Parts: sequence; structure tokens; C-alpha cells
Amino acid sequence: MKKKYLLTPGPVEAPQSVLEAASRQLMSHRCAEFSELFKGIAGKLHALLESDSPVVILPSSGTGALECAAVNFLRRGDKFISLSCGVFGDRFREIAARTGARGVYVDTEAGSAPSPAAAAAALRENPDARAILVTHNETSTGVTVPVREIIDALPAEGRPLILVDGVSSVGAIECLPEKWGADVLCTASQKGLMTPPGLGFVWLSERALAALPERECPSYYFDLKLHLKNMGPGSYANPYTPPVSLYYALNAALDVILADGARAWFAKRRLYADAFAAALEELGYELLVTDKKLRSAGVTAFSAPNGASEAVRKSLSAEGFETAGGQGALKGKLIRASHYSDWEIGEMEDILRAFAGAIGKDSDENYLRTARKIFKTDKR
Ligand SMILES: *Cc1c(COP(=O)(O)O)cnc(C)c1O
Repeated sequence: MKKKYLLTPGPVEAPQSVLEAASRQLMSHRCAEFSELFKGIAGKLHALLESDSPVVILPSSGTGALECAAVNFLRRGDKFISLSCGVFGDRFREIAARTGARGVYVDTEAGSAPSPAAAAAALRENPDARAILVTHNETSTGVTVPVREIIDALPAEGRPLILVDGVSSVGAIECLPEKWGADVLCTASQKGLMTPPGLGFVWLSERALAALPERECPSYYFDLKLHLKNMGPGSYANPYTPPVSLYYALNAALDVILADGARAWFAKRRLYADAFAAALEELGYELLVTDKKLRSAGVTAFSAPNGASEAVRKSLSAEGFETAGGQGALKGKLIRASHYSDWEIGEMEDILRAFAGAIGKDSDENYLRTARKIFKTDKR
């Protein structure tokens, strides 16, 4: 049977070792073996994020992790600054606004990223803000926001908590919350971490940990203090039943990502994205993100010639290539293809050939040469 390709930006194709790990027999989440597994995962997450601060693991999708961050750090009467350049930035602010906190919204158009200067200006005008919300990788447009530069542009003294949505960056794109000076980083299992959906993650800085005790969390299930109480140093546990199979899978996925060091993995995903984008452009597809520095290593957004994006998606789907479309105002106008999975040049060529065929360019082979030249890691 012909291979099918899952190109949606979550869930993504998981490596075989991850699928096999997930199918193992279950264990009690109260036994020593589970505690050891959890502890091992914590160590691998610390290596990935280059930080020893705790990462709470929740049975939830990425949205749950964002909600957890919001309900633990914001409440009625607080003010937050929200930087958004797309659907997911807008979602994070909506979640935050549900706590009753008041948002100051800084918007940037689709395909671009909020600027460090705009963030600094918003903080100057709202020095009483308790938090700044920013999306590291805006999945709806394929933009990676320069979070590090944004934080660098803010005063170090007395600055608000920096809450980062890293749902579609962590695992695939360098994200170093401690080094960058972020305070809360949320992510999920099914994108850069190449694990089935169902796990949410909340990393916390020392400043965030210090800010917790003064807050009564209105959520029982998402109470970070309760989760942290169960995590080490002696034993690692979850206050409620965790999705045990997903912990097996996550552990295997982290082994894949860390095998040659996380940075080598990120570099490979970057090369893949660059090669993929160059070949698409050569075929006549138009990339949404014109500033190459902002192009995501995880997901690429583009449109087909002659406004045929939806028709192209449909014909690709019939061939077994499942892409995502535009969201919000971009509905019907975009094709989004992710590349978080551990694909080599052979798989990229399969995918590119399908994109060529969908616009009647089957006989042209230049785009494949372009892709090979950039993605030099072909070992087959
Ligand atoms: C996918 C995504 C989310 C939502 O995650 P779910 O797991 O679908 O709840 C939030 N933010 C970003 C940036 C995402 O890509």
C-alpha cells in the first residue's frame, strides 16, 4: 500500500519507536517503576529546554496547558498584555480574559511577527501589567516569533511574568525559556514532540514558582501547586491518574529528539523547512511569510497559483497527503504543511512530487534538485 502522509500541524507522524512504546502493557501510576519513568522524562525535558526548572505534565491538549497557565497566574483585576499575530495568539488572550483579567492587545498582521519595540512600548504604557502573553510559533501562519529578542527589549527589573505558548515550537525549534528569561512555557505532545495527542506541559521559572504561593488556584485539576508537590525529589507522581501510555510514548520520542543532541535535531528540521520552502517557491507556490528569518521550521503556510489552494488540498488528500487549510480570515486561502516528523529527503521528495502533480507540474524536476541541494543530509 502507498504510504500516506500526515502533514497537518498536529497531530504529526510519530516515529515507529514511539508507536511501539505506546502499545506496551499498562502499569500502575503509583508504582516505583512509573516514578522512575516520570523522573527520566523530567530529565530529558530539562535537557531539551536546557533548564532544571520543573515541567508539570498534564493530561490535556495544548489548550489545557494554556488554560492552566492562565488560571494559576491571572485573576480578576489583573492586567495582561497580549501579543498576537494570528489565531493562536488570539486564543491565548481569550483564555486569559476568561479569568476576568483585562487584556491590552497588540496585534500584528498575518505572516509577520510582533516586534520587540511594540512589546516594549506596550509595557511602557502599561507598567502595571502582571503578565505578557506571546506565541512562540504561530501555527496559523507559519511564523516563529523572536521571543528572545522581545524579552531582551523589556526592562529586566520588575517586569511582568512572560507567558509563552510554545505548543508548536517545543521539540522542533530551539526554545530556551530560562536562558531567554521567560517565566511560563506551555506546550503539548502532538507537534514538535511527535507523540500522540493528550499531554500538556507547563514549564515554570523560579520567578513563576515564587509567584505561585500567593495565589489560590480556582481550578482543582489544573492547580500547579498540587502538581508540583507530587514531583520529586524522592518520587515523581501525578495527583490524578495520568495517561500512562502517553508517558511511554513521550519517553521514546524524547530519545529520538535527543539522540544526537537537541540542537542537531533542530538544525535538521530547519534545513528541511528551508529546502521544502525553496522547492515550493520554485514550483510557483507563494509563501505567506516573506521575511525568511520568521519562517517556521515546523510548519509552512503557502497558497497555490490561481487561488487554487482548496482544490489542491482536496486532490492531495485523495492521494493520501493530509494538509491543513487556512484559519480565521485566511480560511480557504492557505495550505499549511507541517514537517515536525523525522523525515528524510526521500519522504520530502514524495511530498513535493505530490505538490507538483497537484498543479500539473509533474515533468519538472528542478524543484527536487533545489530541495536536495539545501537538505544535504540524504544518507540513502
Ligand atoms: C496546536 C496549538 C494550540 C492548541 O493546542 P491543542 O493541543 O489543539 O489544544 C495552541 N497554540 C498553538 C501555537 C498551537 O499550534
